Amino acid sequence: MGHEQFEEAVALYAIEALEPQERAALESHVASGCQECRAALAEYQEVAALLPYGLRSQPVPHQVKSHLMQAFRRDFPDTESDREKAVKMSAAIEHTPRAPAFGGFFGLFARPALGLACVVLLIGMTVYVLSLRTDMQKVLAERQQLQTTLRGELSDLRAQIAQRDRETADLRKEVAQREEIMTFMRSPNMKVVALSGLQAKSAGGFLLFDPQNRKAFFYAFNMPSLPPGKTYQLWAIMDRPVSAGTFDTDAGRKGRMLVDSVPGDVKKFAVSMEPQGGMPQPTGHLYLVGQL
Ligand SMILES: [Zn+2]
Repeated sequence: MGHEQFEEAVALYAIEALEPQERAALESHVASGCQECRAALAEYQEVAALLPYGLRSQPVPHQVKSHLMQAFRRDFPDTESDREKAVKMSAAIEHTPRAPAFGGFFGLFARPALGLACVVLLIGMTVYVLSLRTDMQKVLAERQQLQTTLRGELSDLRAQIAQRDRETADLRKEVAQREEIMTFMRSPNMKVVALSGLQAKSAGGFLLFDPQNRKAFFYAFNMPSLPPGKTYQLWAIMDRPVSAGTFDTDAGRKGRMLVDSVPGDVKKFAVSMEPQGGMPQPTGHLYLVGQL
């Protein structure tokens, strides 16, 4: 086999489209010291390396090969009998080259056919790359959709956790308050002061008072609803009233409050309605009053 035949097979070698026997023949030709083929091979391999990574390991599609062979049929001068040629063609197409067909296969690579082969291969590769890109875009779109869904679920979960945190905090506060009331109830010095309603007769309250540590728990019920900007204020009355704190009522018109330090020598307790934030001295009507 001559140098020219090998030179034309170099391009197919670079994209790994040669059969093992053909490949071996070309390799031994290059190894035997043909500098031209070595240089051409290096050049084609450089181009082949730029093709998508997965493409080089793909076999040349059957359709591409038959296009190639049809082109050969047109370009190759009819110097052999049809029967001989048919044997070589089918051997080449089926990719099961036998010894007699082997040399003929290389011989078929006339230059115009090689040019056409490159065009056909290029079209095949372009279609392949485009389909890869479409697949990739689909995968990316699906991933984006998934991310959006997950983000939505995550924010729902966060909202649920925040809601539960609030409920837990409320429960803790309630438990703490109950424990504090229980402490009052257990105290042997505990005194109970009942307060009765003045404006609304059904209103009432009581005060659990421990004179030893000066702490008190106050509870009021059936209190008239507070107008906006108003609050109830508890007074410890000795010679004059001293504020013991303000409290609002809940939806059930109940109010409760812990008093940290009840002034000494207290004789009476009273509740008045005052502007929000409370006043230094009572300014509004008295709603509850009770004697120690
Ligand atoms: Zn050569």
